[in-house]
Amino acid sequence: MLEASWNLEFYDVSVIGTNYSGTMTRSIWFDLDRDVAGERARADFDVVVVGGGIIGASAAYYLSKRDNLKVAIVESNSIASQASGRNAGFVLRGIQTYYNECVKRFGRDNARFIYEFAEENQAVIKQFASETNVDFAIEPCGSYILADSIEELEELEESFELLNEDGFEVELIKDDPLDRGFYGALLNKRDFGLNPVSLTRAISQASGAEIFESEHVLRLESDHESGKIEVIGTGTSFFAETVILATNAYTPLVDPWFQDKFKTARGQILITRPLSKRIIDRLCYANYGWVYFRQLSDMRLLLGGRRQLYKDQEVGYADLVTPEVQSALEEYMKDSFADIVGTPIDYRFSGVMAYTKDGLPILGEHPHSDRKRVFYALGFNGHGIGYGMRIGKTLVDYAMDGIDPGLFGANRDTLLKESGETNQGP
Ligand SMILES: Cc1cc2nc3c(=O)[nH]c(=O)nc-3n(C[C@H](O)[C@H](O)[C@H](O)COP(=O)(O)OP(=O)(O)OC[C@H]3O[C@@H](n4cnc5c(N)ncnc54)[C@H](O)[C@@H]3O)c2cc1C
Repeated sequence: MLEASWNLEFYDVSVIGTNYSGTMTRSIWFDLDRDVAGERARADFDVVVVGGGIIGASAAYYLSKRDNLKVAIVESNSIASQASGRNAGFVLRGIQTYYNECVKRFGRDNARFIYEFAEENQAVIKQFASETNVDFAIEPCGSYILADSIEELEELEESFELLNEDGFEVELIKDDPLDRGFYGALLNKRDFGLNPVSLTRAISQASGAEIFESEHVLRLESDHESGKIEVIGTGTSFFAETVILATNAYTPLVDPWFQDKFKTARGQILITRPLSKRIIDRLCYANYGWVYFRQLSDMRLLLGGRRQLYKDQEVGYADLVTPEVQSALEEYMKDSFADIVGTPIDYRFSGVMAYTKDGLPILGEHPHSDRKRVFYALGFNGHGIGYGMRIGKTLVDYAMDGIDPGLFGANRDTLLKESGETNQGP
């Protein structure tokens, strides 16, 4: 059984086990007026989705395409309140590793599958936008993957050749398109930016699911009488035949079985006041993704990343901003954007992500006999908006029709491979 082979040294369980100080833990004192154990309200559904981020919302949306399913989304805070509402809003084709590395790590066919999957996700989001007519601020600006060194440019060149051979539209730029000290770039014209909160809210609304916000799930239990799973919230007990856990980084807080399945990592962002002119016209992803920036439509500059400098500190569940990472971002701004130094910073925020050992998401069904029909999708390695809606479909096809999630399935071989230091954000 694959599970037995997990390398617990890689997954530093002590971090997950001890750092319970973040916003996602729940103190009983807020619930005493409504959480009287044994006296919770009861609610019955066909499917309960726990977690109202992009993945939970997308799963609910695809469940709504099936006949007559009664679906609930149960969310601790509000829709998109965690990573799905605290990111850079890049919808990139591809993942955190460049295509050449992806081919080395997963093989040519799998690399092609991963990039096609992300392209499909882009298409699904655009289709959803046109069907629902909701404005989630899509900016069809394309992206630059920028080389910070000659070595990185060589990797981009290699990726360019492979992407071309595999039929992906991409351009190689052999000098600095921004005139800010980069060595060259890959231009992906299809990539786009958006407002991830508006997107996630729109998807959850379109799902027609009953949405329970401020309902923190404490744990799952098996109801032996009905054969259903009981999802025990602070105010309500939900009973369903099928449960989808879309709680990403926080999943071990609901069920400790998930503790050694991924590592948490906090990403931080700053956003300036609107600049007086446009200085960046595409989404930008540089230094293997350790830094990323875009200029929003209101002219603010968004800059994120740099957590690699404080990797040991940027873990756990807390959505803190730290002076160290924020200073590192400001230093980067001084070096690369000398023309806007002194612009006030309006926003500083962070979000918590889940990183898997091989750098790919994990979709599976809980293996314990009393957790049958509890499905999960987690570990988006800083690219969950780029996978999001399409993952929702894969997860629902798996849960409802038993269609194998393939490369993203929990039984894949690559789960045992180390991703090394090339596994980064945003
Ligand atoms: C700084 C930063 C920048 C990023 N930039 C990008 C980017 O530009 N492009 C990109 O593709 N990705 C980006 N990402 C990654 C992306 O945001 C995530 O991969 C994605 O949002 C994960 O979605 P999710 O639904 O799995 O998780 P989440 O959005 O974290 O959703 C999980 C939900 O579960 C809820 N929950 C947790 N525990 C419970 C419980 N016990 N009971 C009830 N509800 C619970 C939480 O409140 C939360 O709303 C970034 C992430 C960060 C932090």
